[in-house]
Amino acid sequence: MTYFDYNSTTPLNRAAKDALFDAVHGQWANPSSPYKVSARARLALEKARENLAARLHGKGTGIVFTSGATEANNSVIRYLAEILPREKGLAISAIEHPSVMEPAHHFFKGRLELLPVSQEGVLDLNHFRAVMATGRLGAVSVMAANNETGIIQPWHRVAGLCREGGVAYHCDASQWFGKSLDYRFENCDFLVGCSHKFGGPKGVGFLVLSENWYGFRALFGGPQEGGRRGGTENIPGILSMVSALGWADRHREGILAQKDHRDVFEERLLKGIPGMKCVGKSVPRLPNTSFIVLPNYENLRWVTKLDVRGFQVSTGSACATGKTGRSPTLRAMNFARGASRRTIRVSSGPQTDRESWADLAEAFLEIWQSLKPDGSCDGLTEVISV
Ligand code: PLP
Repeated sequence: MTYFDYNSTTPLNRAAKDALFDAVHGQWANPSSPYKVSARARLALEKARENLAARLHGKGTGIVFTSGATEANNSVIRYLAEILPREKGLAISAIEHPSVMEPAHHFFKGRLELLPVSQEGVLDLNHFRAVMATGRLGAVSVMAANNETGIIQPWHRVAGLCREGGVAYHCDASQWFGKSLDYRFENCDFLVGCSHKFGGPKGVGFLVLSENWYGFRALFGGPQEGGRRGGTENIPGILSMVSALGWADRHREGILAQKDHRDVFEERLLKGIPGMKCVGKSVPRLPNTSFIVLPNYENLRWVTKLDVRGFQVSTGSACATGKTGRSPTLRAMNFARGASRRTIRVSSGPQTDRESWADLAEAFLEIWQSLKPDGSCDGLTEVISV
């Protein structure tokens, strides 16, 4: 099996596995209980918080551990809806993950602005500036990198403009950690990370608050997480997540090397499959992600045939798989409906090697040949607006 769906989820990395095993055995106690074994669990939890804060150049007091990015994103949007004056709205990019998009529509009905992206999938900064200038915004949410295309957003610029304008900035950086060298988050008011995207376990994540927003509350019902999120902490998950990020950061060269492997893979496919497109080739992208539009045949056919050959790839985001219709990201990028059904996302991990990428390219070409034994290529003439 050669796994190429790291943007969906990752296997546990070695440090995450060791930490999880140790914590399941050694740190099972409730950190809020009044005896020694619990005090040790509490200490381990606070050490993990400080360790994460140091990694992000932030303060431990601003970190809230959550059950993942979906919970963190939902909680932030709901909290902002409660706290902002009624006349202030929220602007989000039109390519946000559903865990931002859906709560934004729900909690900010009538005061939500969708920020457009270019056909290459990058936020339109001029439009954003114009929306900021209206003075109507209380908060902005723009992700760091898109989960489907891997396209990096100008989130540093957005964060700076928000800070200048006194508008709260929320950044879903779920696809950023472990794939980027740049951990400068100083202008983010709400920063979200997701463990299982960087080699940690599922069901755990974090939210980092700027000092302006220390009053944030997500879940009521207990004093945990400084009263911001009631509920017994998932200590094994948290310790494993923080170790996973440490491992990912120490192995950054592995993820950066993916760019070269990915580029060779794309060149091979572009030569061998006439009419194929690679999305976002001319803009900054995550080094591990290739988002392609095939000239023919529904993506699920390709995915199944690749799976039979031992390669796991996806049609887009896992959340969108099985849903009918275009994903909001593809719609925002003006993809024709037909093209949306021919997209494939390939995403690798820090230990994916050159040979695996080369084998994947060969598998694509083999399938292309088997699907079109006469070499003809129906559907090629369709205009793909990417
Ligand atoms: N945000 C982005 C950009 C994602 O890619 C994902 C993962 O699918 C999520 C949020 C949701 O993360 P979680 O599975 O931790 O809830």
